[in-house]
Amino acid sequence: MLKIELKLKSSTNDPDNDAENSPESVLVNSPERKNSPEPVLVNKGNSPERALVDSPERALVDSPERALVDSPEEQLFPLVRIVLVETSHPGNIGAAARAMKNMGLTRLYLVSPRLFPNDKAIWRAASAAEVVRDAVVVDSLGEALQGCQLIIGTSARERRIPWPMLAPNTCGVKVFEAARAGNEVAIVFGREAHGLKNEELQLCHYHLNIPTGKAYSSLNLAMAVQLISYEILQAKLRSDEIAEDRQSRGAQAGDASVETDNDHWDMEYATAEAVEHFFTHLESTLVQVGFHDPENPRQLLTRLRRLFNRVRMDKMEVNILRGFLTAINKLKNSN
Ligand code: SAH
Repeated sequence: MLKIELKLKSSTNDPDNDAENSPESVLVNSPERKNSPEPVLVNKGNSPERALVDSPERALVDSPERALVDSPEEQLFPLVRIVLVETSHPGNIGAAARAMKNMGLTRLYLVSPRLFPNDKAIWRAASAAEVVRDAVVVDSLGEALQGCQLIIGTSARERRIPWPMLAPNTCGVKVFEAARAGNEVAIVFGREAHGLKNEELQLCHYHLNIPTGKAYSSLNLAMAVQLISYEILQAKLRSDEIAEDRQSRGAQAGDASVETDNDHWDMEYATAEAVEHFFTHLESTLVQVGFHDPENPRQLLTRLRRLFNRVRMDKMEVNILRGFLTAINKLKNSN
């Protein structure tokens, strides 16, 4: 008991800083590691090519064993990105990367991480060091969501204005099916201490809350990533199983796709940036016609965001609405 109390004490200052206290980090902090040269950052900035070279991990990456792991077959979800917003502890970034790779996910986006690049992130990633190394680092969530057509925001708390919700298992299916249909998908995770801000959550089509015991609803960031990544892989495995089963029962090759595919649509879904341009245009038009008072905004724009995100507009729908707004602008200007 005493031992447990002491252990807890050493980590209570920084609850999510468990990377430092884990037996694993003791293992990776072995003397050989300690003497390793500092990783050199060659590509500081936002480029996806950001890479740490000359680090011990690099040798690991180039080993034949690694090449096998990185074979194209392992890119199970090339259209799915995990976005971590303003992560405080680099250990959590590494642990999240490991959780992702364990489940076949590889695309990590970091929005203004507090300490990055950082050795602890690499250590905690273990054999997923390249996921950390290849992480795309950006300054804003908007940048991280560029090109995304399905956005899911995770939250440990209920928010004031309810949003369409997904349970972890339905999220897994939704993400898998959306990506299989060719859509770019983002799942967004918040800060260890404060989660995601309301305006960040309002960029999302769905919110996701992992059910927990009532006494403590906040999971460690990497554990939340683990759970959601697991559900995405489960959805894929179930789908593969159904497809195999159908094939083994003699169905035509073309019939082997899974019946649950509900992400099919006749137009491409609009990207996050196209939707943001639409919202900016909508807001200025509402001001122009005197329907919206920026001095007294109330929840108007939040409710409109929720309305349009709930629909998950396609490109054509956004274009039609933009054209409609432009017509209103012209009319108003000519009066
Ligand atoms: N104290 C914060 C929790 C932050 S935990 C808050 O009250 O919001 C860090 C991140 O892990 C969260 O932003 C979320 O992305 C994820 N997370 C933690 N617990 C979760 C849960 N029960 N459901 C969904 N996501 C969760």
